[in-house]
Amino acid sequence: MKLRCIACGTIYPADKIRYTCDCGNLLSVERDTFPTSTKLFDDRRASRRSIDQSGVWRFREAVLDIDDAEIVTHPEGSTRLYERDGILFKHEGENPTGSFKDRGMTVAVTQAVRLGATAIACASTGNTSASLAAYAAQAGLRALVFIPAGKVAAGKLAQTLAYGATCLAVRGDFDAAMSLVRQACDRLGIYLVNSINPFRIEGQKTIVWELLQDLEWNAPDWIVVPAGNLGNTSAFGKALAEAHAAGWITKMPRIASIQASGANPFFRSYREKFAQRHRVTAETIASAIRIGDPVSYEKAVAAIRDTNGVVAEVSDEELMAAKRDIDRMGIGCEPASATTLAGVRKLKLTGQIVCVLTGHVLKDPDAILKNVPAEQMIEIDPTIDAVERAVKSLP
Ligand SMILES: *Cc1c(COP(=O)(O)O)cnc(C)c1O
Ligand SMILES: [Zn+2]
Repeated sequence: MKLRCIACGTIYPADKIRYTCDCGNLLSVERDTFPTSTKLFDDRRASRRSIDQSGVWRFREAVLDIDDAEIVTHPEGSTRLYERDGILFKHEGENPTGSFKDRGMTVAVTQAVRLGATAIACASTGNTSASLAAYAAQAGLRALVFIPAGKVAAGKLAQTLAYGATCLAVRGDFDAAMSLVRQACDRLGIYLVNSINPFRIEGQKTIVWELLQDLEWNAPDWIVVPAGNLGNTSAFGKALAEAHAAGWITKMPRIASIQASGANPFFRSYREKFAQRHRVTAETIASAIRIGDPVSYEKAVAAIRDTNGVVAEVSDEELMAAKRDIDRMGIGCEPASATTLAGVRKLKLTGQIVCVLTGHVLKDPDAILKNVPAEQMIEIDPTIDAVERAVKSLP
C-alpha cells in the first residue's frame, strides 16, 4: 500500500502523514494486490463479527492493509436498498451517525490511530463533523471541527457537540473553514480527516461495492450522487475502476453527479468539457453541498471521464420538490440527498438507476419545519369538539 500523486505520479509511503504531493496535487491510495474474487465478501454477510458486519470492513482487503485488531469500527455501512417507483435508493442516512461520512471516517480514524495521532480535525458543513466526533470518541482522540458559523443544520450541530467535539465556528463560509483547517493541521500537528485525506476515499468506495453486492454484482446503468466537495464522486469513480479491473463487474455503470445550481462549480467545468476549474461563492438550501471550491476536483473529473458520466445542476425548488417526494415515500432524506431524484428527472435518465441518499431526514429539521402546510399541523384546544372540527376540515 502506498500513496501516488494523481498528477505527477510521485510515490510516497502510506505510513507517514501526508495529504498532498509536493507538486500540490491530490494523493491516491494504491495497492500491490487486489482481490479478484468477491466470494469472501459474499461469505462474510453471514458472519456475526463486527468487522464482517461493517459494510466497509467486509471489503477490507481492498480498503486498507491493517490487522483486524487495529480497526476502529462502529460498525458502519450495510445500509438498505429501497425500490420505489422503479428507482433504487441506497440509503446512506442509515449509517451510525446518519450520513455516508461514517464510511470514510472509520478508515481515516483507523489510520490516525495507527499513525499515532492524538487529535483529529476537519472542516465541515456538519455531517463530517458529526462523524468525526463519534469516531474520535470511540478511539479516544481529541476532536476539533471547523464549521461555518451559523450555517450548520441543527441535527448535525447537536450531534457534533453531543459526541464531545470542540467546535470552532468560523466567521466565514465552508471554503474559508477548509483553508483554515489545512493550515491549522500543518502548524499544530493535528491529523486532517477531510476527504482530501486519501483514506477517507478508500472507505467511501464501499458505498458502490456494497450496492453492487446488493445487486449480485450486476452493475446498474446509472449511479446518481449529490456533489459538493466531490469526495464521493471521486470515490465512486475509483470503486468502479477497481471493481471493473478486478472482474467483479463486467459492465461499467455511469455516474451522474448532481449539484445545486447555487453551488455549481463542478457543473460549470463539465459544461466546458473540463477546460478549466471554477470557484464560486456558494448558496443553496442544501447545506451539505454548499461548497464553492471543491477539494477533490481533479479526482472527480477522472471519475466522470472514466465512467462516461454526466454532471447536472438542479435548483433549490427542484431539489426540495424531490425531497418532498422521497419523504412521502416513507423513506426521507436531507435536502442535499434529494438532488439525486431531482437530477434523474432533469436528465430524464432511463434504465436501472440507483440514487444514493447521503443523509438522514432528521439531519435538517428546519428544512421541514419551515414549510409545513397549514392543514398538516393544527393547534387545538383540548376538547373532543375541537378534534372533530380539525378532522372534518381536512382536505
Ligand atoms: C458530504 C455530503 C454530501 C457531499 O458529498 P461530497 O463527497 O462532499 O461531494 C452530500 N450529501 C450529504 C448529506 C453530505 O453529508
Ligand atoms: Zn505530484
